[in-house]
Amino acid sequence: MKKLIFATHNQNKVQEVNAVFDNYSIQSLADLNYHQEIEETENTFVGNALLKARHVFEVFKTPVFSDDSGLEVAALDGAPGVYSACYAGEEKNHAKNNGKLLDALTNESNRVAQFKTVIAYKDATTEVTFEGIVKGCIAKQISGSGGFGYDPLFIPDGYNKTFGELPSVVKLRLSHRSRAIAMLHDYLKSIT
Ligand code: IMP
Repeated sequence: MKKLIFATHNQNKVQEVNAVFDNYSIQSLADLNYHQEIEETENTFVGNALLKARHVFEVFKTPVFSDDSGLEVAALDGAPGVYSACYAGEEKNHAKNNGKLLDALTNESNRVAQFKTVIAYKDATTEVTFEGIVKGCIAKQISGSGGFGYDPLFIPDGYNKTFGELPSVVKLRLSHRSRAIAMLHDYLKSIT
């Protein structure tokens, strides 16, 4: 099996990817005993994803991919965007982030939003990025306890429930991250 590093400390994401990549041995940063936090200093998803992939490639010289995700709200000019995790402060508290988002949209009728994931892949000769998007809108109140982050506020197009309420298999099928992962998977198949 070919080796591929997923430049993340998040084991949930690793499990999601392992479900799709049956012909690869995926190693996370934890598997490699690499516990250093890689600071996301860019102001775009593409910039941050590339930064992480380049950093880890420099260290391990092994094909690597990384991801960067967030929520973009149309009425807020795309905020919180790359700052989704720390929207309400550096402690990265999901409940506070959701509260701040609801406050920001008080009396706002345009509740259009999308989740976006950019995956960056790097090996010795190639650097390429993939963008997965799921479109939807922001609910008027928190609903559901599934998922994480902004899931209790995000209603995907075609549904009338939030990702927090919908079964996890539905989110897995629709999500920005799943879509970007599928693109990476197709790409890797096409070059081997
Ligand atoms: P990350 O780049 O995947 O770590 O995501 C950054 C932040 O975006 C998270 O801390 C969440 O606030 C938000 N986010 C990303 N993906 C999701 C999701 O699938 N559901 C809910 N929130 C998400």
